[in-house]
Amino acid sequence: LVRLRNIHKSFGHVEVLSGIDLDVAAGEVVCLIGASGSGKSTLLRCVNHLERPDRGRVYVGDHLIGYEERADGRLHELSPRRINAQRTDIGMVFQHFNLFPHLTVLENVIEAPMRVRRLDRATATATARDLLDRVGMAHKEDAYPRTLSGGQQQRVAIARGLAMRPKLMLFDEPTSALDPELVGEVLDVMRDLARSGMTMIVVTHEMAFAREVAGRIAFMSGGEIVEIGTPAEVLGNPQHERTRAFLSKVL
Ligand code: ATP
Ligand code: MG
Repeated sequence: LVRLRNIHKSFGHVEVLSGIDLDVAAGEVVCLIGASGSGKSTLLRCVNHLERPDRGRVYVGDHLIGYEERADGRLHELSPRRINAQRTDIGMVFQHFNLFPHLTVLENVIEAPMRVRRLDRATATATARDLLDRVGMAHKEDAYPRTLSGGQQQRVAIARGLAMRPKLMLFDEPTSALDPELVGEVLDVMRDLARSGMTMIVVTHEMAFAREVAGRIAFMSGGEIVEIGTPAEVLGNPQHERTRAFLSKVL
């Protein structure tokens, strides 16, 4: 479903991504791990063109993300409107919940389907209630974000991401801003989502989650995927010194 080819990205003189290749099959969960500054967030943001790669291509399904290839073989960046249309296939959940503070839980979830997909309120509401039920937040549909715990807000953010019926969900450390006792409820929702067959790329420091849920784990260091494989391979029998050094600090 996802194909990253030779993704390069620099900020100023610093090359943050040095030629990333990654394929993610439909229904697969890939966890990205690696030290702070290794480029995990930048890579994730390249997938939905929140960052523009300097070189390389991102395909999600049949779409070349952010660009169209003209007859001369050159890439031309799409208009913001067309990039936004591509992004409806890609849900993203960040470390900070980014709910609209002036909207209720339900309104947060129906906003994009009504505005972007032009669903009527009744249809969008019915879908939103199903999703809120799935993340255990149906009882809070009239609450405002500030009255919710971080874990509750993050579960609403996941429901909101799912409301556009994405083919792919991106998660960037969705639990790292949470109090420890709230981490489990968000990981439970993500585990259920993975079991339902959603394709997911998850940047996480939660090694137990990665071990249990990931089909593959990719270890990033210095802008490269140094090692990728099943949890048993990468966590249980790492081949590279850099992977071993990182794991010795986090496991
Ligand atoms: P963390 O685990 O701390 O979230 P990360 O692996 O997600 O780290 P990135 O956020 O992708 O790392 O950052 C990789 C490098 O790129 C860092 O050195 C960071 O300072 C730099 N960087 C990221 N975004 C920008 C930006 N918009 N402008 C300049 N430098 C940036
Ligand atoms: Mg990051």
